[in-house]
Amino acid sequence: MDGLKRQKLPVIGEDPTRTYRLGIMGGTFDPIHYGHLVTAEQAREALDLDLVLFMPAGAPAFKLDQEVSAPEDRYAMTVLATAANEAFYTSRLEIDRGGVTYTVDTLKHLRAYYPKNVKLYFITGADAILDIVSWRDAGQIAELATLIAATRPGYDISQAHERIESSGYPFDVRYIEIPALAISSTNIRQRVALGKSVRYLTSESVIGYIRKNHLYLNQGGMNRGEGE
Ligand code: ATP
Ligand code: MG
Repeated sequence: MDGLKRQKLPVIGEDPTRTYRLGIMGGTFDPIHYGHLVTAEQAREALDLDLVLFMPAGAPAFKLDQEVSAPEDRYAMTVLATAANEAFYTSRLEIDRGGVTYTVDTLKHLRAYYPKNVKLYFITGADAILDIVSWRDAGQIAELATLIAATRPGYDISQAHERIESSGYPFDVRYIEIPALAISSTNIRQRVALGKSVRYLTSESVIGYIRKNHLYLNQGGMNRGEGE
């Protein structure tokens, strides 16, 4: 990383007599929105997580065929949106690793980095949990982390349950119901491109960042038109 000092992971697990629970909220976060934040916060509360690491993907494996904003922009927006929550932390791990991002590599890294009294919980929405059995080294993911599967409007979580059960992988999944927020990054990008309001879909700081950096103005042919 150009000789720059790599970001340190947050300290957790220092008391060997107790168990710590570390949540990992993976995503593209292009941009981060209230759906992500509510999911992470309610997972933190439901499973009594000590900390949630937001983990913007460097080059998400399932989005290689589509345009994704620069990792630094997605990282910056995630920092802005999570800054006020003392239990939230944004990690550069997947961005700095380079190459295609696979969750299994992240979990292996965290498992090796943290002591044994730190348990890993990987947080996903219902759409991601539907796919997880097809992720690279799904069996290893199952061994490394407990999954927290949150409801998401438009996706059937019971179908995910069946798929996981029949996969034969030893997944330990905790299902949580969260307030339904039918917000997606795709919709936010499209709204920005069309010049529509995205207020109250994500934080004011993220919206300011999007505007200042002219993000999402040209989405899939939906050019907003004349320059600023
Ligand atoms: P995109 O539309 O670009 O795919 P997204 O809104 O789906 O973006 P991602 O970064 O793909 O956001 O999602 C990261 C994680 O957050 C996934 O596990 C996803 O299921 C979850 N998630 C995203 N939006 C919501 C939501 N509104 N409610 C619950 N979970 C969500
Ligand atoms: Mg998505």
